[in-house]
Order: sequence, then structure tokens, then C-alpha cells
Amino acid sequence: MTQKLRTQVGIVGSGPAGLLLAHLLQRAGIDSIVIDPRTREDIEGTVKAGILESPAVEVLVETGVSTRERVEPMKHDGVEFHFDGQAHRFDFPKLTGKSVYLFPQHEVLKDQIAARIRDGVSPLFGYTAEKVVDGPNGPMIVGKNDTGEAFEIEADFVVGADGSASITREYVTGSKTSGFFREYPFGWYGILVEAPPSSEELIYSRSDDGFVLISTRDEHIQRMYFQCDPNMDVNSVSDEQIWDKLQAGVTSELKRGNIFRKDVLKFRSYVHNSLRKNRVLLAGDAAHTVPPTGAKGLNLAVSDVLWANRALREFYRTGSEHLLDSYQEDAYKRIWKAAHYSYMMTTMLHLAPEASEFDKQRQIAELYMYTQSEAGQKFIAEGYVGWEYGADDWR
Ligand SMILES: Cc1cc2nc3c(=O)[nH]c(=O)nc-3n(C[C@H](O)[C@H](O)[C@H](O)COP(=O)(O)OP(=O)(O)OC[C@H]3O[C@@H](n4cnc5c(N)ncnc54)[C@H](O)[C@@H]3O)c2cc1C
Repeated sequence: MTQKLRTQVGIVGSGPAGLLLAHLLQRAGIDSIVIDPRTREDIEGTVKAGILESPAVEVLVETGVSTRERVEPMKHDGVEFHFDGQAHRFDFPKLTGKSVYLFPQHEVLKDQIAARIRDGVSPLFGYTAEKVVDGPNGPMIVGKNDTGEAFEIEADFVVGADGSASITREYVTGSKTSGFFREYPFGWYGILVEAPPSSEELIYSRSDDGFVLISTRDEHIQRMYFQCDPNMDVNSVSDEQIWDKLQAGVTSELKRGNIFRKDVLKFRSYVHNSLRKNRVLLAGDAAHTVPPTGAKGLNLAVSDVLWANRALREFYRTGSEHLLDSYQEDAYKRIWKAAHYSYMMTTMLHLAPEASEFDKQRQIAELYMYTQSEAGQKFIAEGYVGWEYGADDWR
């Protein structure tokens, strides 16, 4: 027997993008169903993003997903760049009047899922979309749940917020990969470690040994990464070698501890070439992927969701599709800025395997240009704290 459901907006994916869209739509009286193959525990255990821009935090707090008391202790007023044996600080409030928040993705997801449950519309966990098709009355999400039962969700609209391996993309362009793509010859080796923070603020380091990022989760758990071969075996380095790689290029002494999680992350830049077909939209990592160096992916997902929310609210208020028609053009503006910023931060701070002495010297000069002039510092800081969101009718 096939389970048949009907809603106004069917949302594929219970990640930050899908959950935020459902929340904003509900505030405007628009129904949705969010589905995800994973369990709640699995989703809430996702270790990914760390840095949220202040406009993204403002959306979460002002729409009642998170509280001001919860986010304020996570505020960070700057980051450091370490290169050429020196440390350079970017003072965000002085340069931009804003800050960022070290609000780990799994904590954001816990707040988002709690908000959906509080509002009486839990996501459907254990539901895998197999495809999106045209039904008699609008698009349909077709799939199976974790008991093996088939389901169909008929909707006025479907939004694919199903991450970088999106199946919804196939409905939009007939292909999962028809877009603009860039691969990088390096990835990140990431660890979680039981130790006190090594630094009050994030450290981005570039040395002749490559890139290192020293980040934090809380007072007891730290997140650190070093540049690696994207095909590297996660078990091929000892803990001692990991600490040597992390310490290289960082001018202050790292606080060591028990490493309890290790992973290798490949990264790439990708922008799908179409974000809408008929009544199906793409948002978040389903629409684009950026390398994590610029801390942009989740923030960008929020931007897409605000544009989609605006277009859908307008449709249900007036029947007009004109904001749906401009969804791709509106969302693309920030998507391409973030794609550039993430590319720039990545190539400026990582060492390409084939880098010549010329490339290395040029890279250091580039870093000095951004750190020694106020204009250069402002440029980096403005991108890092995030540009204002264009769609401001989300309250
Ligand atoms: C190491 C790392 C560090 C990062 N740091 C930052 C940072 O500091 N700041 C930042 O802004 N971003 C950062 N990011 C990026 C950020 O994590 C992503 O951009 C973000 O998760 C995108 O959210 P999303 O909801 O679009 O997609 P996802 O989080 O991928 O969620 C998609 C959801 O869809 C579900 N799904 C998939 N297929 C199906 C299907 N067939 N049917 C139903 N559901 C499906 C998945 O299970 C998942 O729950 C980082 C990423 C990494 C890997």
C-alpha cells in the first residue's frame, strides 16, 4: 500500500535549509511536509559548519528558532591569519560593525528540529525521496520510508533542500551534475579533540606545509583541520604526526588532548545551472557547494531560503509567480559572491601540490595585501561576517 500525503510545499531534506524554510512558511500560514532518510539523532549529530554570520543568527533568533541567551556566548569578534611566521588579527566590529557566531551546525539543527516539534509539525524521519515527478495536481515526491513502505507526497510546490547529492536536481535539469564545477587538488583532515581551546578566536594558517584551521566547539572539545591529499587514508597518520601537521605554521602553542574523531573531507565548488523548473525549486547545498574555507555554505543556504520563502509567500498572498520567476536571478547574486569568496580564501591559504617558488612568494604577498591595509582587511572582514540578505521580508 502506498502512503499518500498532500501539502502546500513538500520539502526534500531536513538539513538547515529545509527546516528553516518550513519554519518561515509556517509563520506565514503555509503548510509543508519535510522528509529525510535519517533519524533525528543522526541529523543532530552532524558535525559540519561552525561559523554563522550575524544576519543568519538574526533570522534564527528573531523567528523564534534559537534564543538570544543561547547565541550570545558564541559571538566571535575576529579571526587570525598566521603566515610568514606572524599573526594578523581581523577585528570584525571595528572593520564592519558586525561579528560572527561559532554556532555548530548540530546545535543549529537541534534548535530547528525542536522548533518544528514544538510547532506540531515534526519532520518525517526515515523517509527517502527517490524522485520528484509531475503529478495530476502538481509536483510529487515519490519514495520509500524505512519500513519499506512506498509514499507519495503531492504538493503545490516542491523544494529540493537535499544537500550536495540532491535527487531533486534531476527533476530540474534532467541531471544531478549539470552545473558549474571546480575541483581542488587538496582536502581537509579534520579532528575532534578533548582539550581546552588553543586560541580564543579561529586561526587560519598558511605555511609551506599547507593550510591549518584551528577552530573550537566549546570549552572542552576542539575542531582542527590540516590540508591533505583528498584521497588520503584517514588511518595513515599517527596522532603525533597529526599534531606536527597542525602545529606547523601556527605561531602559538596548540593545546593537545585525546583525538576521538578523524575524517578526510574532499571539497569542491559547484553551482547548479538552474534553480527552478515549473513548481520545483532548489535551495542550499542542493543548489551549490562551496569549499568550507570561507565558512559560507550554511549561511548561503539561509539566503536561498529567504528568497524562496519570499517568492512562496507572495504566491500564496497574491497568486503572482513573478518572484518565483526571479528566484534564480535573486539567489544567484549571493551564490556567486560566496562562490568567489570561498574560492579566493581557499586558493589564498592552501598550497597547491604543484606550487612553484613564484606561486608561494606571490601567495604571501597576496596575504600581506589583505592584512597590511585597512581596505584589504575590510574586504576580507565584510565577506567573512556576511553581506546583508537581499530578501528581508522573513519576519
Ligand atoms: C567541514 C565543514 C565545515 C563547514 N563549515 C561551515 C561554516 O563554518 N559555515 C557555513 O556556513 N557552512 C559551513 N559548511 C557548509 C554547511 O555544512 C552546508 O552548507 C550545510 O549543511 C548546507 O545545508 P543544507 O540544508 O543545504 O544541506 P544538508 O545539510 O546537506 O542537508 C540535506 C539533508 O537532505 C537529506 N537528504 C539527502 N538526500 C535525500 C533524499 N533522497 N530524500 C530526503 N532527504 C534527503 C540529508 O539526509 C540531509 O539531512 C561546512 C561544511 C563542512 C563539510
